[in-house]
Amino acid sequence: MGKTTRAKAVIVTIGDEILIGQTLDTNAAWLSSQLYQRGIQVLRMLTVSDEEEEMERAIRQSLKVAGLVVCTGGLGPTRDDKTKEVLCKVADGKLVFSQEVFDWISERKRQQGKEPNELHRKQSYMPTGFDYYRNNRGTAPGMLGEIDDSIIVSLPGVPYEMKELMTDQIIPVLVEKLPVEIAAVRTLLTAGVAESELAQQLSDLEDHLPEGLSLAWLPGHTRVRIRLTSRGNDRQTVEQKLDECTARVREILGDIVYGEGDDSLEEVVFDLLKNKQLSLAVAESCTGGFIAHLLTLVPGVSACFKGGVVAYSNEIKREILDVNEQTLKEHGAVSAETVREMLKGVCEKFGVDTGIAVSGIAGPDGGTPEKPVGTVWVAVGGVEKQHVEKLRLNLNRKLNIEKSGLLALNMLRLFLSRD
Ligand code: AMP
Ligand code: MG
Repeated sequence: MGKTTRAKAVIVTIGDEILIGQTLDTNAAWLSSQLYQRGIQVLRMLTVSDEEEEMERAIRQSLKVAGLVVCTGGLGPTRDDKTKEVLCKVADGKLVFSQEVFDWISERKRQQGKEPNELHRKQSYMPTGFDYYRNNRGTAPGMLGEIDDSIIVSLPGVPYEMKELMTDQIIPVLVEKLPVEIAAVRTLLTAGVAESELAQQLSDLEDHLPEGLSLAWLPGHTRVRIRLTSRGNDRQTVEQKLDECTARVREILGDIVYGEGDDSLEEVVFDLLKNKQLSLAVAESCTGGFIAHLLTLVPGVSACFKGGVVAYSNEIKREILDVNEQTLKEHGAVSAETVREMLKGVCEKFGVDTGIAVSGIAGPDGGTPEKPVGTVWVAVGGVEKQHVEKLRLNLNRKLNIEKSGLLALNMLRLFLSRD
């Protein structure tokens, strides 16, 4: 096969525990991301029970549509583990005792101060026609065989065993044998702007994407991730095209993009504060310390983050943050005036340059026609200059709190970067 067409795969995860919801199928998600990064297109993910007929049907069907079938599960030594029997049926083979596999297992057991038993002997029977790969984390070896024009891989179900076998031993073989395209992926992170609005801004770019590039939208409750994928046969061209497209998206969206990949808003805010040598404190009513918690997750944050107040009641807003009695009476706790005073109060009390103040109605109760549930006021900035904004959220209590916290961090990010 030439190296130009894109290989297609099906993932078959095996186990009753997945079908009854006891085990979450993390193997399929992990495997598909690994294959995707190597330009292999996953057509389907199937989950089947430990029944031999079910496995056999799934594997036979998959072999008809894909050049690669990756199975996980059912390789243990117990009676409910039947994958090897099924592989024999599908590949017209039989189980034969492998002294090599038995020696691997025995060595592993002796390292643990144990002796191999009868079940380990059973585990050393391997289907003919398959190559097997030593599992350094457990007893069940991985297997790879070829049926007609397709490759079939069988891996243990235990995630860390499966991952190590796949990464260290199986993927190098697949890359050799399959017509693999080169793929490069980058994910840009945006916050605070709706997917439809972003899509409008990028619609011209999307209409004229160069060959081999694709764009995907992954919306969440606060952020939208934009995944750019570049495919082709030459690594340098693939990466250059991806760099160019990324730069173009960043140019169009400007500071709506707060980062890439696994970057978090709190890390980005911390970097900005550090670069500008600014200190930070927070005054939180409806978020109840959530923003302080997010900031605390960032290693080294103590260089900038001094602390915060959970000012849930009016009394605390007045007494600790010096919010005016009159302000609370006239405008209420959920108001532009109150968060502005909370912000000034926390900056003065903590002696910091910048702060975040939040006050809102997280729900489900407490809303009024003028201030419905989901009304949240946020103030960011310092004693001299503030930016104050109203959010109108419509999620449940927990998500309203999360979204308020993240959007407040995003507001501070924009305030600092536009300053
Ligand atoms: P098995 O190889 O079928 O004996 O599976 C061993 C263990 O691996 C099971 O008890 C599950 O906890 C775990 N496991 C099996 N399949 C999966 C899967 N698809 N995703 C995550 N964990 C799994
Ligand atoms: Mg099982």
